[in-house]
Amino acid sequence: MKYLSTRGEYAGLTALETIFLGIAPGGGLFLPEAIPQINQNELKSLLTADYATVAQEILKYFIPELAPEKLKQILASAYAYPAKFNQREITPVTQLSHQEYLLELWHGPTHAFKDLALQLLPFLMTEANRSVGEPNQEIIILTATSGDTGKAALAGFADIPGIKIFVFFPEDGVSEIQRLQMLTQKGSNTHVIAVKGNFDDTQNGVKQIFTNQELSTKLKTRGQVFSSANSINWGRLMPQIVYYFYGYLQLCRQGALEVGQPLNVAVPTGNFGNILAAYYAKQMGLPLRKLICASNTNKVLTDFINEGVYNKNRQFFTTISPSMDILISSNLERLLFLLADGETHLIKNLMKQLQTNGSYQIDRAIREKMGHHFYGGYATESETKALIRSLYQEKGQVVDPHTAVGLKVARDYQQTSGDKTPLLLAATASPYKFNASVLEAIQGESAGIREKSEFQLLEELEKLSQIPIPDNLKELLELPVIHQKVCTKEAMGQITSDLLGF
Ligand SMILES: *Cc1c(COP(=O)(O)O)cnc(C)c1O
Repeated sequence: MKYLSTRGEYAGLTALETIFLGIAPGGGLFLPEAIPQINQNELKSLLTADYATVAQEILKYFIPELAPEKLKQILASAYAYPAKFNQREITPVTQLSHQEYLLELWHGPTHAFKDLALQLLPFLMTEANRSVGEPNQEIIILTATSGDTGKAALAGFADIPGIKIFVFFPEDGVSEIQRLQMLTQKGSNTHVIAVKGNFDDTQNGVKQIFTNQELSTKLKTRGQVFSSANSINWGRLMPQIVYYFYGYLQLCRQGALEVGQPLNVAVPTGNFGNILAAYYAKQMGLPLRKLICASNTNKVLTDFINEGVYNKNRQFFTTISPSMDILISSNLERLLFLLADGETHLIKNLMKQLQTNGSYQIDRAIREKMGHHFYGGYATESETKALIRSLYQEKGQVVDPHTAVGLKVARDYQQTSGDKTPLLLAATASPYKFNASVLEAIQGESAGIREKSEFQLLEELEKLSQIPIPDNLKELLELPVIHQKVCTKEAMGQITSDLLGF
């Protein structure tokens, strides 16, 4: 399997080369030249397989240069129970109500779905460095985070030899638990910096460091190279394809589906990485029908899917689902490439328009193709809170705000379309990561939630949810804050070179 870039500058790379580079130099994202196919017999043969085995059967097509034994060993380390994940199933599927199921993606070490990719990526990056890098080259991972990627990347890359990691997060754009998770991160190779700005500013700042020729050249003379742990890196996206297969197989095992029957998937979406992985799974032959793309008030994707115009020139809202507070969904570029059958000129043109005007429009044919696979909708803040509350009152079930956005939009879709296909909803984070917002949604604004300590909030949520507080979140409140740096969005490059010592 070879890889190429969406804007046409690169072709014929190996998976490890794309993972090493992270983003195509000069812009553009890497993706595989072809999409491997998994037929129903192969699906059936995986019915009783565990997560790591399913991962092996999927990933072997995308990364054939890794010896099967090596891949197996890496997967066993990344998806270890109970060392890394607190459920044997890794991503268990639970029933929410008739024909509604949750794919619980938050049982990893940092309690959000990002762990599924970021527990594996450090192993892949190490292999990539070994096979692609110069001898003794050091990789500098630059990460922009809306909250969850940062901690998951830190947890994965801390103290990995040959790698340094920098995480930038919007100072006021993450939850208190997310902030503490990052600021208390140990590891001599870790740097965490708060940015005065929102996630788009942060992501832009990182992209600018990447494309800063002067910095890259300096870095090179020191035997260092930048790479990315954001979902612009194919190594982030590829592992996420696995859990859609595994979720489907679990539904078959539970008797909710027969192999071959269709399933709808709903994904709370920000950077379009998670839902793009679902699209890949569908293109590989997994019987997925509608992919429901759910946004919060920052509904740039909803408008794009419904109107064919991407327009980031709009008000930015800070919401209770901060990991979706994004106006530039990077991975959409990959989808456009796939829908446009690899028309690199078109992609280049659209991305240029996005950069200069902040907007672009797609033609009718591409829009129709997109509408065939995707439904786009959004949930307001009050709708999201109302859903968290009613789910708790009716079922005793507590979900995080991102998952609630996904469910609201999925139910809107079912209602407007009449589509009765069973639904699998990606539950992207543990409610504990957003305890204040969740408790406030359930108990109301008069409950004085914002005056309570994080410790009180964790305990209250435990009482309500009956989910035990994860040990590492309880311990979090006792840990010393290690990272204290704050910078403006303009100073991100400077602080990076300062911290690298030049
Ligand atoms: C990152 C994140 C999302 C958005 O995922 P994308 O791949 O960026 O679309 C949704 N929910 C949670 C909890 C997240 O951490």
